[in-house]
Amino acid sequence: MVTVNGRDIARLAYALGLSANQMMRALDFYVVPEDETIPMGLQDTPSVLTERGPAYPALKKLEDDSCVFLKDNLCMVHPARPGVCRSFPFVFERSDGDMKWGLHALVEICSGMGKGDPVTKEELGVIGSAFLEEWRLYREFVDEWNIERVTHSAIDFIRAILEDPRFSV
Ligand code: SF4
Repeated sequence: MVTVNGRDIARLAYALGLSANQMMRALDFYVVPEDETIPMGLQDTPSVLTERGPAYPALKKLEDDSCVFLKDNLCMVHPARPGVCRSFPFVFERSDGDMKWGLHALVEICSGMGKGDPVTKEELGVIGSAFLEEWRLYREFVDEWNIERVTHSAIDFIRAILEDPRFSV
């Protein structure tokens, strides 16, 4: 699942010239049933209150499980792809003020691993800092959304993101 944050949503909407209503066609708000454990990949992702309960905004998947933006094995939104895609296969987290990074994927599921130019420590720092800052801003926004709003709906969440200067692109 490709989870998205506020900057990801704004970046895609801006690049594709999509309104909040149109963005809803590219996104799903995944709800984890109450009797199920939150999957590992979502445990650090803030859930957003919607009309269907807490949910995780992510790129829509097609019937074959592929991303809505994948066509002929190419990404149709490459310059505006979400941060999770930009930083793949690296994952980042902040721990005791320091940035930690790891590898997300095994070579069996990412045929590009080990090919191309090596990523330098400096490049990794730039990518990781941008990634962590976008998610920090998004967590701040989601906390406000969940607490301060009287009513919650997915479409209003997207509208609020597109209007928020923290996510302007
Ligand atoms: S890189 Fe593009 S096609 Fe692949 S998951 Fe990300 S947005 Fe979708």
